[in-house]
Amino acid sequence: MGIVVQKYGGSSLADADAIKRVARRIVETKKEGHDVVVAVSAMGDTTDELLELAADVSPLPPARELDVLQSAGERISMALVAMAISDLGFTARSFTGSQAGVITDAQHGKAKIIDVTPGRVVQAIGEGHIVIVAGFQGVSQDTKEITTLGRGGSDTTAVALAAALDAEVCEIYTDVDGVFTADPRIVPSARKLDAVTYEEMLELAACGAKILHLRCVEYARRYDIPIHVRSSFSHLDGTIVRGSIDDDDHQQQETSMEAAIIAGVAHDRSEAKITVVGVPDKVGEAARIFAALAEAQINLDMIVQNVSAAATNLTDISFTLPRSDGQTAMSALASLQSQVGFDSLLYDDKIGKVSLIGAGMRSHPGVTAKFFSAIAEAGVNIGMISTSEIRISVVVDEVDVDAAVRATHSAFDLDSTEVEAVVYGGTGR
Ligand code: ADP
Ligand code: ASP
Ligand code: MG
Repeated sequence: MGIVVQKYGGSSLADADAIKRVARRIVETKKEGHDVVVAVSAMGDTTDELLELAADVSPLPPARELDVLQSAGERISMALVAMAISDLGFTARSFTGSQAGVITDAQHGKAKIIDVTPGRVVQAIGEGHIVIVAGFQGVSQDTKEITTLGRGGSDTTAVALAAALDAEVCEIYTDVDGVFTADPRIVPSARKLDAVTYEEMLELAACGAKILHLRCVEYARRYDIPIHVRSSFSHLDGTIVRGSIDDDDHQQQETSMEAAIIAGVAHDRSEAKITVVGVPDKVGEAARIFAALAEAQINLDMIVQNVSAAATNLTDISFTLPRSDGQTAMSALASLQSQVGFDSLLYDDKIGKVSLIGAGMRSHPGVTAKFFSAIAEAGVNIGMISTSEIRISVVVDEVDVDAAVRATHSAFDLDSTEVEAVVYGGTGR
């Protein structure tokens, strides 16, 4: 039997009893004859607590030290899980991301994995040990500093290890039974998906469904690793993420109406909107604005340009970005004001994004119209719109997000007729 990689999230490791329960689960897999490699997250809300502590100590902590601090959360878990396993009569070896060979670029707080060199992991497996790796962290190839992969990044550690070790499957254990048609915390009648394609899962993750980290899905797709998302609190089968919307069998199912048109509804409350008001309507102005934002390493999401409400020959450019980058973006733009000659900057972080995702919308007309009617019937005003081949997203007021998600979910008949979705633990932070 081959290698199984498992990942346990913070809500599955909330306290000592939870850690012992996870250890039993890991040992069960080992007893089935598999070699087991486990990526662990920090316990419960540890990462948030560490970040709050940092903010209390310093208003603008150095990025290097923030990563040293945050990476400690996962190190606590890895040692405790290894101890609990040894109490069950098995041996475990815990490794930090760096020891496990997780090599990243140098971007503190949002580092990308560029290679995994799992020599020590392979050796420990060969010696019969269960291997526990601290998720969410690596070491920079260039600077040799400790890095972290961005919030939710332990999922990516697990998939990267699964790819490097040529594992049979990567199991992501969490506090719900799989990937649902919407966040069960907002829509209790959401339905569990048995399977979902990489492309649909990528869109769901990119649109805020934090059940999987976006880069973990990108990684799984690139290396063709199936992900099984399931609960650590039940033994139910979860959701398998695999396959492409371009596979022949998927396309056939789509046209014969066997496949669901819609995979799900996602929401995101982590973005903000900036409007650059009164930009001279000349060649090159937008390029200058976006070059400054790129220079500041800011990833933009939606972009809209409108004729300025204030005057002719001027345009307003609005875009959305992660709230956490809001201050950096505002200062980068402010320093351009005299050069570009725009009037002012507006910042709004009381927004949310609601997205409808499904490969079937390629072949079924009318999806957009139904989506907009559902949102209108819920009395929600739409601020911005963007689309991809398999997604429609709208920006709404933050307070309207839940209503828009629920209205869309029922308009597309996604509600389950069976029991309500169970959220086993976690605070949803
Ligand atoms: P973990 O601590 O295991 O990494 P996360 O809190 O990161 O767990 O992710 C699990 C949470 O993702 C669930 O508790 C749920 O509230 C949320 N979630 C958002 N969208 C979805 C979805 N479509 N399906 C399932 N869960 C979702
Ligand atoms: N502990 C990190 C976080 O809370 C990473 C993870 O849980 O995946 O974001
Ligand atoms: Mg997570």
